[in-house]
Amino acid sequence: MTEQGKIAEQVRMCAACPKMCRHVCPTFFAWRSDAPTPHGRALLLHQEITGLRNIDERGVEVLYQCLECSHCLTWCKPEIDIASLVENKRCDLVKSGRQPSGVNRLANFVKETHNPFGEKHSKRNDWLKTGSLNGPKIIYFSGCTAAYREKSIAQDTISILEYLGYSVAITPDEWCCGSPLFRTGDTATGLKQASHNVEVLNDINAEEIIVTCPGCYRALTKDYPENGFELDKPVQHISEFLNRLVDKLPQGDTNGSVTFHDPCHLGRHSGVYDAPRAVIERISGNPIVEMERNRENAMCCGNGAGLRTLFPEHAKMIGSERVRQALNINANCIVTSCPFCKEMLEAQSERRVAVFDLPEFVMQGIESRNVKTD
Ligand code: SF4
Ligand code: SF4
Repeated sequence: MTEQGKIAEQVRMCAACPKMCRHVCPTFFAWRSDAPTPHGRALLLHQEITGLRNIDERGVEVLYQCLECSHCLTWCKPEIDIASLVENKRCDLVKSGRQPSGVNRLANFVKETHNPFGEKHSKRNDWLKTGSLNGPKIIYFSGCTAAYREKSIAQDTISILEYLGYSVAITPDEWCCGSPLFRTGDTATGLKQASHNVEVLNDINAEEIIVTCPGCYRALTKDYPENGFELDKPVQHISEFLNRLVDKLPQGDTNGSVTFHDPCHLGRHSGVYDAPRAVIERISGNPIVEMERNRENAMCCGNGAGLRTLFPEHAKMIGSERVRQALNINANCIVTSCPFCKEMLEAQSERRVAVFDLPEFVMQGIESRNVKTD
């Protein structure tokens, strides 16, 4: 069967399904309408393929209302991958210039400034406090959100790596990893970032590359090789790296209940669930208190695939609901392992619960008087 034939068969099955996955779709939660659901999106694509309907303005909107969180996939018996179908369709929309203006603006920022915020590229590494980066052993690829918006994540990552005895290399030539472009359909611009970053990273003599952003992680480990851009050193997410060295981290002895929010790109998209939990438990000295929806069943924070750029109020509703789920189990602290999730959850927490990204939580543990080192 051709690729187009397979897609047609998938959307046909989904369009005729009793929609068992709808209750986990965060955008159904936010809009309470049948269109922004897995089934609604598949029905739209099915109608287009069978010539019943062209994708009009409303159709474009529905396709860009998807978080590409893949939660529907965990419920789908025939394993229809709505996130990929949506992403493919977004590529067609970008190619024909029919993407929402917010997506265009984001792509133009990346083209002009190498980050999706339109910040000056010359200020990318302004978060860096130390200058002692001799003898590179590990490259830290900070990603745009930690570099410009959540600088303590980048700063604490360097401090932890130095605490563990590593020398860290940072490049002034790092560009956006391309993830926001891959996810919103501008693959061509995303691949320009990939080509540049692979050249720069392969040029540095180091053992491995560490990332703190799961969006970067997915881009560097999946999108790049799938498109022929190969890095010559392994890429590790900080949670996996720290889990490898967990015995060297201070053993905590703290009170309070800590929960973990699984980022979609780290959990469902990359299968990393245990590593961040092991690191958190080492630092806190207590087992994680799980939210009802956890691991592959974790609810997205609402900050993915361009949703916050295009529909900020609905994105915030989803983030608030995720915070409510943590408050529901009386968590004192939410730890996540993604600068995007941290940004959203912290904003929606309204100071009712502390929110940390993993390196911030670990660094706090290292600095705290409540922990003793081995
Ligand atoms: S994604 Fe799967 S479970 Fe959900 S409506 Fe489509 S076929 Fe049904
Ligand atoms: S990927 Fe997420 S937001 Fe998109 S249809 Fe599936 S559950 Fe809903």
